[in-house]
Amino acid sequence: MDPILDRFKETNALLDGHFVLSSGLHSPTYLQCALALQHPADAAELGRQIATQFAGQDIQTVASPAIGGLIVGFATAQAMGLRFIWTERQQGVMTVRRGFSVEEGERILVVEDVITTGGSTRECITALEELGAKVVAAASIIDRSNGAADVGVPRISLVGLDVPSYDPAECPMCARGETAVKPGSRSS
Ligand SMILES: [Zn+2]
Repeated sequence: MDPILDRFKETNALLDGHFVLSSGLHSPTYLQCALALQHPADAAELGRQIATQFAGQDIQTVASPAIGGLIVGFATAQAMGLRFIWTERQQGVMTVRRGFSVEEGERILVVEDVITTGGSTRECITALEELGAKVVAAASIIDRSNGAADVGVPRISLVGLDVPSYDPAECPMCARGETAVKPGSRSS
C-alpha cells in the first residue's frame, strides 16, 4: 500500500470496516484526515511532499480553505518558505477575513487536505481571485475524486483513494449480516 495510506491507517485516519457515513450511505472505508495530521512531524512531512511538487514554480503565497486545509496548508507554506493565509465561510460564503490581504496578481497555491468534489478549493480560489490574486495551482493530500474534480487550475494530490459508498438496501456488508457502525463510536 502507499506509505501515506499506511501512516493514515496507523493513526486511525483511515479505517476498514462497515461504516454509516454522515450522508447515511454505508462504506467499507472511513477517512478522517484530521487524525493523520495530529502529529506535527507527519503534517510537516506531508507539507514537504506537496511543496516538492511545486519546486521551481513561481508561487508567492499558500492559501487554504478552513478548517480542513489549515494544517497541511501551513506545513506546505513552511516547507516552501512562503506566507500562509486562509479563507473561511461567513454565512455560507467563502471569504478572506482577519485582515489578510493579497496583492493584484499575487501568485497563490491553494492547498486542502482532501478533495472530493473540489467545492471548497473552488470557493477558496474564487474568494482570492475576487481580491485580484492569481491562483496558479491547487493541491491536496488525498484525492477522492478519481482525478475528476475540476477546480479550474492545475491540480495535484499525493495519493488517490477510492471510497465506495452504498445505499443501505444495496450494501454488500449489510447483505452479509454485518452491523454498520458510526465512525468514532467505540461500540461495534
Ligand atoms: Zn451496510
